[in-house]
Amino acid sequence: MKTLLTGGAGYIGSHTAVAMVDAGHDVAVVDNFANSSAEAIARVEKITGKKVALYEADVADKERMMEILKTEMPDCIIHFAGLKAVGESVAMPVEYYRNNIDTTLTLLECMRELGLTNIVFSSSATVYGEDNVPPFTEDAPKGMCTNPYGWTKWMQEQMLTDAAKASKAECDRLKATGKEAGANEWKAPLSVVLLRYFNPVGAHESGLIGEDPQGIPNNLMPYISQVAVGRRDHLTVFGDDYDTPDGTCRRDYIHVMDLAEGHVKAAEYAVENKGTEVINLGTGSPYSVLEMVEAFGRACGHAVAYEIGARRAGDVQDSWADAEKAKAVLGWQASRGIDEICRDAWNWQSHNPQGYKK
Ligand code: NAD
Ligand code: UDP
Repeated sequence: MKTLLTGGAGYIGSHTAVAMVDAGHDVAVVDNFANSSAEAIARVEKITGKKVALYEADVADKERMMEILKTEMPDCIIHFAGLKAVGESVAMPVEYYRNNIDTTLTLLECMRELGLTNIVFSSSATVYGEDNVPPFTEDAPKGMCTNPYGWTKWMQEQMLTDAAKASKAECDRLKATGKEAGANEWKAPLSVVLLRYFNPVGAHESGLIGEDPQGIPNNLMPYISQVAVGRRDHLTVFGDDYDTPDGTCRRDYIHVMDLAEGHVKAAEYAVENKGTEVINLGTGSPYSVLEMVEAFGRACGHAVAYEIGARRAGDVQDSWADAEKAKAVLGWQASRGIDEICRDAWNWQSHNPQGYKK
C-alpha cells in the first residue's frame, strides 16, 4: 500500500512512518516543518533502512498538494498535519482555525478531483468534552471543547463525516442516472477513519526518534523527561485535590509505537471499507500524574523533583478510553505498559537531551 503522511515529520507521524515501513508499506511525507525538522525523517530512514519521499509544503496550499498527490497517488492519506498546542490555540485562535481547518478542506478538494478515497484523521479524546464519564465509548455524544484546538478537531471530524456521506449519495445518484462524475464530483465513496487519540507518550525503542517540543513543554511526559535530564528544575503537578485515589488527574497514556501500529491497521481498514468509522486509540487503563512521576523515576534511576501547584484551567479530572472497538474493528490493542513507556522516553531524552538539535 502507498501511504502519504501529512505532518509526517512530527512526533506521531515519524513513529507511524517507521511502523508503516515495518509493515511493508510505502511512505511519503508532506510537512512544512512548522513544528518539526527534516532530521526526524533522516532518522526514520536510519531505523528502517528505507527511503521516505519527503515534500516540504503547506498542506493548505492546494496547487502544491495537487502536484504532490498526482505524483504519489496514495492508497491512503493519514492526516497528522496541524497545530496542537492548547494554550497557544487560546491566544491565537485565528491561526489555529485557519491552519487546521484549511489543511482538511484542501485535502478533501484534492481527493475529490483526483479520485482518491481513503483518509485516516488524527483526532483527539478532547472531543468527548467535560460531561462524559470514562471509559469513553465512540458512541458517546461529542462534548463542548474547552479551547480552539479542541474545536478544530471537533469540526474536522464533522467535515470529514459530511464529505463521506455526500460522496456516497453522489455516487449512488450518478450510478442511478448512468452519468460520469465531473471534476467537482466524487468518483467513489470516501472511506474515513477518525482516530481519537488518548495521551501519546514514549518513543521508538531505538532512541533515535521521539517527542521534541519547542520551548517549555505543555504536556506531562516531555516535562517530566526534561526534569529528569536536568533541563528543568522541577515539575509542577497541576492540582492534588481531585476526587481520585491520590488527588491528581488520571489519563490513558499510550505508547507512541502502539499508536503508530494502530495507524497501520486503520489505513489497511480504510482501503478495504467505505463510510466513516470513529475509533479510540487508547489502552483502557488510567494512571495518575503521581503514578507517572514514580514510574519515570524507576526508569531513569532517580526521583523526579516535583511540587504541587494549582489546578490548570480546562483540565478534566479523568479521561480514558473504552478500547474495545479498536480490538473488534481493527484487530489492534496496545501492548506496551507504563514501564516501557518511561524506559523508551528516557532512552530518547537521555541520548538526545536537546531533542533533534545536536
Ligand atoms: P507534531 O506537532 O509533532 O506534528 C504535527 C506536524 O504537522 C508537524 O511536523 C508540523 O510541522 C506539521 N504541520 C502543521 N501544520 C502544517 C501544515 N499546514 N502543512 C504541513 N505540515 C504542517 O504533533 P503530533 O503530536 O505528532 O500530532 C500529530 C497530530 O495528532 C496532530 O494533528 C495533533 O493535533 C493530533 N493529536 C496529537 C496528540 C498528542 O498528544 N500528541 C493528541 C491527540 C491528537
Ligand atoms: N500535568 C501536570 N503538570 C504539567 C503538565 C501536565 O501536572 O506540567 C498534568 C495535567 O494537569 C493532566 C496530566 O498531567 O492532569 C496530563 O496532561 P497533558 O497536558 O500531558 O495531557 P492532557 O491534559 O491534554 O490530557
